Amino acid sequence: MREANLIGGDWVDSDAGRTLEVLDPATDALVGRVPAMGRAETTRAVDAAAAAFPGWAARPAAARAATLREIASRMEAAKSGLAALVTAEQGKPLAEAAAEVEYAQSFFEVAAAAVDTLEDERPSVSGKSIRVRRRRVGVAVAITPWNFPIAMLAKKVAPALAAGCTQILKPAEQTPLSAIAFAEIAVEAGVPAGVFNLLTGDPAPIAEVLLADSRVRKLSFTGSTEVGRLLMRGGATNLLRLSLELGGHAPMLVFEDAGIESAVRIAMAAKYRNGGQTCICPNRFLVHESIHDAFVAALAAASAALVSGIGTQPGVALGPMIDDVAIAKVEAHVADAIRHGATLVTGGGRRRVAGAADRFHEPTVLAGCTGEMRCWREETFGPVCPVRSFRDDDEAIELANDSEYGLAAYAITSAPDRIERLGTSLQAGVIGINDPGPAVAAVPFGGVRHSGFGREGGRWGLEEYLELVTVSQVDD
Ligand code: NAP
Repeated sequence: MREANLIGGDWVDSDAGRTLEVLDPATDALVGRVPAMGRAETTRAVDAAAAAFPGWAARPAAARAATLREIASRMEAAKSGLAALVTAEQGKPLAEAAAEVEYAQSFFEVAAAAVDTLEDERPSVSGKSIRVRRRRVGVAVAITPWNFPIAMLAKKVAPALAAGCTQILKPAEQTPLSAIAFAEIAVEAGVPAGVFNLLTGDPAPIAEVLLADSRVRKLSFTGSTEVGRLLMRGGATNLLRLSLELGGHAPMLVFEDAGIESAVRIAMAAKYRNGGQTCICPNRFLVHESIHDAFVAALAAASAALVSGIGTQPGVALGPMIDDVAIAKVEAHVADAIRHGATLVTGGGRRRVAGAADRFHEPTVLAGCTGEMRCWREETFGPVCPVRSFRDDDEAIELANDSEYGLAAYAITSAPDRIERLGTSLQAGVIGINDPGPAVAAVPFGGVRHSGFGREGGRWGLEEYLELVTVSQVDD
């Protein structure tokens, strides 16, 4: 396993030889060590990306698309190794890690197919000949979180390279090894030196250099709303173009026409992916009063039956929380809800897993939740299902929209008029109707309100890396 960074086509260590340890969150075992890059190395990465930009941008779109397809096919060939690495540094069950690799791969296929959208347009304007050209913005930076180490980078690398930008990736400190494995694949697939660069290390000095360098023209960030705000402020001087994929607090609305069995199946699939450490996980369950008790009982039974464990063990559905801070937050949210009058229906504490670290939280269902509780207002990022009932559609929509976030929202219903209304009134960038997995590579994904702005996926993902230039010609 390689542990170096990639700058200008060279595999490099940090100038001072400093490294960061990567630990398995399930066992605390050492998985690897990566360079802790600093300011000088970051400047060299910008130099390399800026130098490579003209050549990559000038490459025919079909040639760039061929390179992306080659990356996808090499990821397919390397799937089991990549999945094992994701599980080792992130903790999710192996089957989920393999699904993540496939999801990541699909972004390269979709971006390769979308390069045709880079064509010029010629709107008709009387007396003039107009050509609207799409020009790639230049050097792009990607900063990604730990929860989907390989999918999050794919969502940014694929459209940037397809559009003709060059890129510098800074992955999360907890999960940098998947990014290094990806970088190896990119090199083997023929991505030229300097087109894709990778830096690992302490984010503050790296980000400071990237934000201050006027050669950087785009930043795509996925992570917390707090860090998103910080980067937006930091990017103001250079009027940096931003895509911010930030925190979520998705509601799931379960209407009276939902069958309990299918509603619970959908709720389980949406909620417990990556142990609830997913930005689009439902964090608030709103259930019609007529089916509330039956839904809560069935959700609690299904939740309690989930098996926790080390991600490589067979039958495991729930891995560890990523670190001690994360599990402490889950515990604090549960305690706060109970203190404010919630009923603990199942779970509520840690689960001991033999031979593993003490970082596993029981799947937990809390009924009778209200707006005063932290779990109802903040992202818990863990395996907790807070539930409350509603009387009618108006109340359900009002409660669902009562959040500063707006990433995903879910509803379980088959009533066409209601589905139409939900599509226009739920404050979210992604809405799943009876669909626990509305995020796929071919469609736009992103948030509203404090969940950020910008879209990833499909041709919309490429647009984030392109700017429109109007050439207006009047013939003599
Ligand atoms: P985070 O703390 O914001 O970290 C995300 C990335 O930002 C990491 O690479 C981190 O580096 C880096 N970072 C931290 N401080 C920074 C700074 N001062 N300057 C520049 N970069 C900095 O978020 P997280 O805890 O890893 O991820 C969980 C959050 O991501 C949740 O809120 C979740 O909802 C959100 N998320 C959103 C989406 C979406 O599509 N909207 C998808 C997934 C996750 P280090 O790791 O080195 O600290």
